[in-house]
Amino acid sequence: MTINTIKGKFGPYGGQFVPETLMPALAELEAAYEAAKNDAGFQAQLDYLLKTYVGRPTPLTYAGRLTRYLGGAKIYLKREDLAHTGAHKINNALGQALLAQRMGKRRIVAETGAGQHGVGSATACALLGLECIVYMGEVDIARQQPNVFRMQLAGTTVRPVSSGSRTLKDAINEAIRDWVTNVETTHYLLGSALGPHPYPTIVRDFQSVIGREARAQILEAEGRLPDILIACVGGGSNAIGLFHPFLGDKNVEMLGVEAGGSGINSGKHAARFAPPPVASTGVEARLGVLHGTKSFVLQTPDGQIAETHSISAGLDYPSVGPEHAWLRDQERAGYTYATDDEALEGVKILSQREGIIPALESAHAIAEVIKRAPKMAKDSVIVVNLSGRGDKDLDTIMRELKN
Ligand SMILES: *Cc1c(COP(=O)(O)O)cnc(C)c1O
Repeated sequence: MTINTIKGKFGPYGGQFVPETLMPALAELEAAYEAAKNDAGFQAQLDYLLKTYVGRPTPLTYAGRLTRYLGGAKIYLKREDLAHTGAHKINNALGQALLAQRMGKRRIVAETGAGQHGVGSATACALLGLECIVYMGEVDIARQQPNVFRMQLAGTTVRPVSSGSRTLKDAINEAIRDWVTNVETTHYLLGSALGPHPYPTIVRDFQSVIGREARAQILEAEGRLPDILIACVGGGSNAIGLFHPFLGDKNVEMLGVEAGGSGINSGKHAARFAPPPVASTGVEARLGVLHGTKSFVLQTPDGQIAETHSISAGLDYPSVGPEHAWLRDQERAGYTYATDDEALEGVKILSQREGIIPALESAHAIAEVIKRAPKMAKDSVIVVNLSGRGDKDLDTIMRELKN
């Protein structure tokens, strides 16, 4: 398998589709990142903060009661929900904030949808004493008040975005606009394995700590590698972080789970890799460019970016990280989806069987475990990434489960 053969490309995907004015900033970022990657001092500083501040390594928990309930494969949970701020996003936010500091950029801009990446960025900036501005759609601000307040408490300025659908993709547009204007002083702290090169690689590398730990932990627990890795896929950072250190392990299967929303045939979903619906819904995934990278993008028949839907804000994005598109082409990773209802069932079952309330995003991966584990042999092993905890989603879960 060849990966990253042309700089910044994953096969036909990825690349740098940005205004000319941003090209020097991307080149500067790439050079700074390459230097940091090979600098033992930088890596030691990152490792130290991951250990003493984020709380790494996060545990790998054997889910014994869930395993017995489903009656098949042994299920292990990689506990990113136990990382500081409650999700994997902090791994990347902290890494990039350290990189910005190293580049002498003391102003950070970031975008956020549900607020998790905004909280991660605000937290990392408070820790390092950097100025932080987070762009957030007005719709998301209204539905994610606790996270808005968390960011503000950490000293971050939350800038409401009133253009377009007033959600994540509009917030990204504004963050990019700010970056173009202030590129001398400012680092754009991108939150998933998306965007122009070198972001998909940088974010993947900072999140690969998940897979490196999980690989060592499962070898210790089981004396062998897992049969399958399962993770939810929004932009794709928690999944690529788990998958990447296992890519060379030919017998380890990998499965990403997208947001099936109200079902593919409803047109209300964010499943970029799903087979086409039985009848046209006006929402179709095609190759396209969004926010600087080429990948699969959900579009309307005339090529506009489609409105997506998911019960989980973190999976509700019309495109997907370019490396996932490439892994799928190579048949190295497979992709499926879980609907809103299946994710809610996943929340219920994991809470009742293990006393762990997953984030709605992570519950999509749990939903796939519920489908798949019973069909697997009892001595087979699943590692599922629990990308975050459900505290942020309690209102939604309460409302939905009452109906
Ligand atoms: C943001 C988020 C996701 C989705 O983002 P990826 O980049 O695909 O990982 C998944 N789970 C949680 C808890 C999140 O906050």
